[in-house]
Amino acid sequence: AKRLGRNRYQFFSPSMQELAAHKLQVSNDLRHALNRHELVMYYQPIVDLATNEIHKAEALVRWQHPTRGLVPPFEFIPVAEETGMINRMGDWVFRQSARDTVTLVQESLASRSAPPEGNVVDATIFQVSINVSPLQFQSSQELQTWQAYLDQIGLPAECLAIEITEGLLLEASDQVKATLTQFRDAGIATSIDDFGTGYSSLAYLKKFHIDFVKIDRSFVQNLGAGNDDMVLCEVIVDMAHRLGMRVIAEGVETEAQLELLKRAGCDFAQGYLFSPALPFDQFMTFVRDWRKA
Ligand code: C2E
Ligand code: CA
Ligand code: CA
Ligand code: CA
Repeated sequence: AKRLGRNRYQFFSPSMQELAAHKLQVSNDLRHALNRHELVMYYQPIVDLATNEIHKAEALVRWQHPTRGLVPPFEFIPVAEETGMINRMGDWVFRQSARDTVTLVQESLASRSAPPEGNVVDATIFQVSINVSPLQFQSSQELQTWQAYLDQIGLPAECLAIEITEGLLLEASDQVKATLTQFRDAGIATSIDDFGTGYSSLAYLKKFHIDFVKIDRSFVQNLGAGNDDMVLCEVIVDMAHRLGMRVIAEGVETEAQLELLKRAGCDFAQGYLFSPALPFDQFMTFVRDWRKA
C-alpha cells in the first residue's frame, strides 16, 4: 500500500510485503494516536419507537488524525485487531464512553420532573452501547476491570450495553462466549450486531440471554411493503419478542423504512433519518433539542 498525499492510503493489488508494511504503519500510528489522545468517541441516537424518546445511543470511535483528518473505524479497527492494539484501544473506548454516560445519566435525571421510582438509575434513564471485539474478552480479567472502573465513577452497569457482531459471536471461543454471559450477569446488557448476516438462529442466541438484536442495515435498506426483506424483519421481530429479546433496526434513512419497521413491530431505530453519530457535545445538544420538541 502506498501512502497517497496527506489523507489517504490507497491499495492497488498490494503485495504481501506492502500489506504488512501498511499494517505496521497503521499500527504504529495507532499507538501514537492513543498516546496523543487523537481518538474521539461519537454517539448516534437510538430512538424508542414506542415513545419516540431517546434514552439510548451507540458509541462509535473516530480517529482525529493530525494530517489525514477524521479516519473511519473500518480503516483501523481490523488492523488494531490483528496487531493486538485493540486491547488498549478497547480499554480507552470503554472508559471514555462510561464517563460520557455518567454525564448523559445526570442530564437525563435533571430533565425529569420527578425522580425515578425508588431513585433507581437503570437502563430506562440512559443506556450507551459500546462495540467490543471478542479479542478483548480473551482475558477473563476484563469484566473485573470494567466493574472496578464503573464503581470508581459511580455508573450502574445497567446503563451500559455491549455489541458483538453475529459473525464474531459464531467464531468466538467458548471462553469468549462465557465472558459474554458474565457481562450479562453483571448487569451490562448484550446486543447482537449486524444480525442476519451471519447465519445464526435466534434460538442459538437465546442460549446467551441476549437482550437486543440489531437488524443489519442491508435488510433495512431494501425494505418494501410485502417484499422479502420486510418478511424477514417481521419474522425476526416476532421471534425475538417471543424469546424475550428486543429489536433495534440500524441504518434507517427514510420515513418509508421507519414506517415499515414500526409496522413490523420493531422496538428501536437508529440511522441518518434521525442523526449520524455526533461528537459528545453535539450529541448532548441533539438530545436536549429532541426532548424540547
Ligand atoms: P456498526 O457497529 O455496524 O456501526 C454502524 C455503522 O453504520 C457506523 O459506521 C455508523 O456511522 C453507520 N451508520 C449509522 N447510521 C447509518 C445510516 O443511516 N446509513 C448508513 N449508510 N450508515 C449508517 P462507523 O461509525 O463507520 O462504524 C463502522 C464499524 O466500526 C461499526 O459498525 C463497528 O463494527 C466498528 N466500530 C466502531 N466503533 C468501534 C469501537 O469503539 N470498537 C470496536 N471494536 N469497533 C467499533
Ligand atoms: Ca454496532
Ligand atoms: Ca451494526
Ligand atoms: Ca452493520
